[in-house]
Amino acid sequence: MSRVYNFSAGPAVLPEEVLRKAAEEMLDYHGCGMSVMEMSHRSKDFQDIIDQCEADIRELMGIPDNYKVLFLQGGGNTQFAMVPMNLMQNKVADYIVTGNWAKKAAKEAELYGKVHVVASSADKNFTYIPDLSDLPIDEDADYVYICQNNTIYGTTIRELPNTKGKDLVSDVSSMFLSEPMDVSRYGIVWGGVQKNVGPAGVTIVIIREDLIREDVLPFTPTMLRYKTHADKGSMYNTPPCYNIYICGLVFQWLKEMGGLEVMKERNERKAKVLYDFLDQSRMFHGTVVPKDRSLMNVPFVTGDKDLDAKFIAESSAAGFKNLKGHRTVGGMRASLYNAMPYEGVVKLVEFMDQFEKENHKA
Ligand SMILES: *Cc1c(COP(=O)(O)O)cnc(C)c1O
Repeated sequence: MSRVYNFSAGPAVLPEEVLRKAAEEMLDYHGCGMSVMEMSHRSKDFQDIIDQCEADIRELMGIPDNYKVLFLQGGGNTQFAMVPMNLMQNKVADYIVTGNWAKKAAKEAELYGKVHVVASSADKNFTYIPDLSDLPIDEDADYVYICQNNTIYGTTIRELPNTKGKDLVSDVSSMFLSEPMDVSRYGIVWGGVQKNVGPAGVTIVIIREDLIREDVLPFTPTMLRYKTHADKGSMYNTPPCYNIYICGLVFQWLKEMGGLEVMKERNERKAKVLYDFLDQSRMFHGTVVPKDRSLMNVPFVTGDKDLDAKFIAESSAAGFKNLKGHRTVGGMRASLYNAMPYEGVVKLVEFMDQFEKENHKA
């Protein structure tokens, strides 16, 4: 067996320890004679799994007691609809558009009410984060929406917007559990887990209790009401049991690693290796304004499409997988999620250095 270095943006690399543990427990989970995949979600074994899962993410993130943690399905794109359906009592919301995912979220919200784009970095192909300290926030806005880490463009919002008292909703999909965050500053924090946490199929929604409302937009389907899931401990219907279990193993791994402070240091150290290389390279360039660079997703280009293609082919053959960039940016993108080991980035940079020496035209 040989494992590659997988730089995919998502679904993405998972900790090897977690995969081994899942393999060990595959046929017989804790002596119950069956796999977690085969269990009733109403069984005590599964109830213990989801309870532990919630307790662990609460501990890792320091989630205050007045927030609920929901394990939902439908991916990020379902949250694009659930957020406005549940929160748009005034039918007005302010969106900060720093990339494709925020743009899609804003477009979906337009189906339900008035959307004001109060800041955008579309003018420079989303290569920076605009100043968010004094935005024209609507007096009637039901919430202010951000995508905090822009998976495609490789930027992160480090200074949260001044929402002028409005509730902040944040999509943290591609930075979930990569560093500590102060949940109390948000109304809702949500993330699809397939970027930095677990297998595709689970979306975790952390929501302040007063935002779990009865007076949602009238046509909101039962399954798309936060209250439905909050009232039933995320078991209104059959949840994605096995995927929740894997998320739980990842939470335990994160705790063993030392928690989110430690992950932040590790992630900073890893990203620095690649950014330092890009900053001195005569061939490869990062595409983002340095102060807004993501620790998780690092897009870079050579400026020559043929050379990019050659690099992607040769790096893939050498065991560095999924480095092709998103089509809207071109070039390459290395995603350096929690489970990417430090050596993976060091070896990638060695490979890039070698490639540069062999291909640079003086
Ligand atoms: C991948 C991604 C999404 C979309 O998630 P789906 O589960 O595919 O709907 C939304 N937001 C961000 C930041 C993402 O990285």
